[in-house]
Amino acid sequence: MNQKGGVGKTTTAVNLAAALAEAGRRICLIDLDPQAHLTLHLGIDITGTDHTVYDLLIDPACEAAQCLINVRPNLDVVPAEVDLAAAATELAGHPDRQRILRRKFAAIAQSYDFVFVDCPPSLGLLTLNALSLVGEVFVPMQAHFLALQGVGRLLDTVGLVCRSVNPDLRVTGIILCMHEGQTTLAKEVVADLDAFFLQARRQDVPWRNCRVLRPAIRRNIKLAEAPSFGKTIFDYAPWCAGANDYRILSELLLADWDAQIAQRSDTSQPASVPQSPPEIVTVSEARSAMPAVSGVTSDAPAGVEADPGRPG
Ligand code: ADP
Ligand code: MG
Repeated sequence: MNQKGGVGKTTTAVNLAAALAEAGRRICLIDLDPQAHLTLHLGIDITGTDHTVYDLLIDPACEAAQCLINVRPNLDVVPAEVDLAAAATELAGHPDRQRILRRKFAAIAQSYDFVFVDCPPSLGLLTLNALSLVGEVFVPMQAHFLALQGVGRLLDTVGLVCRSVNPDLRVTGIILCMHEGQTTLAKEVVADLDAFFLQARRQDVPWRNCRVLRPAIRRNIKLAEAPSFGKTIFDYAPWCAGANDYRILSELLLADWDAQIAQRSDTSQPASVPQSPPEIVTVSEARSAMPAVSGVTSDAPAGVEADPGRPG
């Protein structure tokens, strides 16, 4: 997730998912952006289907299994269409609207090793549905000064969801996209981010284990060309710099996840740190948990509401 557009969310979702599918893992990709870029990127034609993520959210009779489109070996997609933009308004009176995706997806979750959700560039209801479903958040961003502005709001939103509807939610990593590591600005921004997440280690926040992930994904024109052909980078230019960066990043993430799963089955304990019971928090409480860091603002997240399923 990142409420800023054009930072590399869709490119990262598609290509990390494709790399893991090529490695033999069963992957589901959910397109949760009304711009439907992920659906288009993979060349999916949704003409005539009434089983998109919009239908899944809006139609009580629509089931997740009906929405799956298999696009590659081990890779299924829940596609989006522009209708999705209306979902937030249509769901305004729904008592459990932040958790619809989680509830619907539960029926098929066991069919997959990993599920990726490509979020829209906002912190509204669609993103809240994504945050209720997943265990980990990745933040694709460009190492620009302005890119830092939104990180505080984004972390506030994760904090609120963590304390209300999804206590196991964690921010795992920043993924630097379109990276130009030789520039002074990029070096300074990355150093700021590293310092910020280092100091967060001492705090009880859902981003305390977050790291700026390496390798960064270098700016590479092949990554920008591949969507026009409905291809992943591994179909289009499997040995270009962009493919290599996403391949290495996927291998490192997979090694981490496999180690966590092995640890969990060794100890028969959940890998996540035990949580205090979920509670409703206010925006100002979440703000006060957000430490100051140069270049990072901490404005109120938009559209976050207290868990409607809880009293008060
Ligand atoms: P978002 O989903 O955050 O809006 P996208 O993944 O769609 O961002 O990326 C925005 C644009 O940048 C797209 O045209 C995409 O093809 C291009 N792009 C993404 N990553 C790279 C990269 N590493 N190098 C070059 N172009 C990229
Ligand atoms: Mg996108």
